[in-house]
Amino acid sequence: MTNTEPAPATEAQARETTAKKDGPAVIEVRNPGTGEVVGTVPDETADAVAAKVRELRLYQPEWEAIGPEGRKVWLLKFQDWLIDNTDRLATVLQSETAKPRVDALIDPGFATDLIGYYARRAAKFLADDHPSPHSPLARVKRLTTVYRPYPVVGVITPWNFPLAMPVMDVFPALSAGAAVILKPSEVTPLSALELAKGWAEIGAPPVFAVVTGAGATGAAVVGNADYIQFTGSTATGRKIAAACVERMVPYSLELGGKDPAIVLADADLERAAHGIAFGGMFNSGQVCISVERVYVEAPVYDEFVAKLTANVKALRQGLDGRDSKYDVGALANENQVAIVQRHVEEAVAAGAKVLTGGKRAGFGTAFEPTVLVDVDHSMSCVTEETFGPTLPVMKVADESEAVRLANDSVYGLSASVWTGDKERGERIARQLNAGAVNINDVFANLFSYALPMGGWGLSGVGARWGGANGVRKYCRQQAITTPIL
Ligand code: NAD
Repeated sequence: MTNTEPAPATEAQARETTAKKDGPAVIEVRNPGTGEVVGTVPDETADAVAAKVRELRLYQPEWEAIGPEGRKVWLLKFQDWLIDNTDRLATVLQSETAKPRVDALIDPGFATDLIGYYARRAAKFLADDHPSPHSPLARVKRLTTVYRPYPVVGVITPWNFPLAMPVMDVFPALSAGAAVILKPSEVTPLSALELAKGWAEIGAPPVFAVVTGAGATGAAVVGNADYIQFTGSTATGRKIAAACVERMVPYSLELGGKDPAIVLADADLERAAHGIAFGGMFNSGQVCISVERVYVEAPVYDEFVAKLTANVKALRQGLDGRDSKYDVGALANENQVAIVQRHVEEAVAAGAKVLTGGKRAGFGTAFEPTVLVDVDHSMSCVTEETFGPTLPVMKVADESEAVRLANDSVYGLSASVWTGDKERGERIARQLNAGAVNINDVFANLFSYALPMGGWGLSGVGARWGGANGVRKYCRQQAITTPIL
């Protein structure tokens, strides 16, 4: 293995914390496209987090007692609220991310769909199991497995999808009957605060709270909640796992990735080039399942690279308003720019060629969509998570070399295989070390909540979703035996 573990994440540099005489310090939230301060939020103390968790504990038993059908009513009311507020929510989200309008609209749309999925299915997912008796002793008993929620689930989220990311874990946990404390990223807390406002606005029971702040606030959530659902960098995930083990509290970690795309000679190259350009550049490459490296079979390498470069060059980059004009916006903060820049510069210094992009885009924290060739596994752009708009492309002799190199990573989040033969694609998928593999597509698994979304290796521990498991993971299992006679 040529890869190294990821460097520890520096705490988000976009924020500025100002100590105030009375009350908590505040964090300034900036639009990364303009640098403008668009809001301030409290940097909540550990005491404030502990108090909030205590309060949630008071209301959770009632929430559990109304059962999945009772909770469904509130979840569907909240879904209506999301639909009614989609446009406004997209504007808030755009202000703290500088995303193109069409991308900003994805978060509330995705959230609406996901909430409906869990609201309607939770009763089925949480139904008792009655396993068949398997021994003479058990045969005289009725066996029951009951799923009962952890009282308070702590959800900690990153900045790349400020509304969808919280929703994808908060609502499965709420539908399980848990109360939820959410700690969104300090870089993009405004959208998450809107969720809390909406929950209060519909008059739902106070079993969902948002606390804002940086790493210390997150650590306080880890120190007080009964189950931790974390999404973010591998470096932070490692700290959270250690803290959870210390408290003997269960956790699920959704971490970084370095997703490979394998383009075989029998692929529809037009489709592959288009899909991989999208998979690498959507949200400026700031998606955990972005395509981050591409392996192309030698016979089609030149043709594919030409098509990919043309697709990437065609992307329009700029600061979008309410009317969607652009495909690519800015990166989240200077921290991200520094990583992308370093990866490109180190690659070029070691002999890589930039076919398009390769530099800052001229506004805010934007970086140009970039295609790199003549790269290899000695370069940081291939071994470390970039989380930016770069596509390093490598030529491979055949399928087996592609699989070997794709698996040469400390990460294993997702992957894609591009081929004219779907059976072959599925066969290759089973050889890849990744939590998800999409054949002739990117991101498809993200829209399939019936499937688990989890990473292998340093990409995570556990998984979100996966049908019933997505709700049952927030529950303790209880075994009940009852005499039949
Ligand atoms: P990050 O790890 O810096 O921060 C994530 C969250 O953890 C933030 O809310 C932060 O305040 C909090 N935090 C920081 N230190 C903490 C501590 N000691 N205890 C508790 N909480 C703490 O990550 P980021 O830069 O916000 O997000 C980018 C990363 O997220 C990338 O690595 C990306 O791949 C990953 N990600 C993964 C998925 C997935 O589903 N696997 C999805 C999106 C993003």
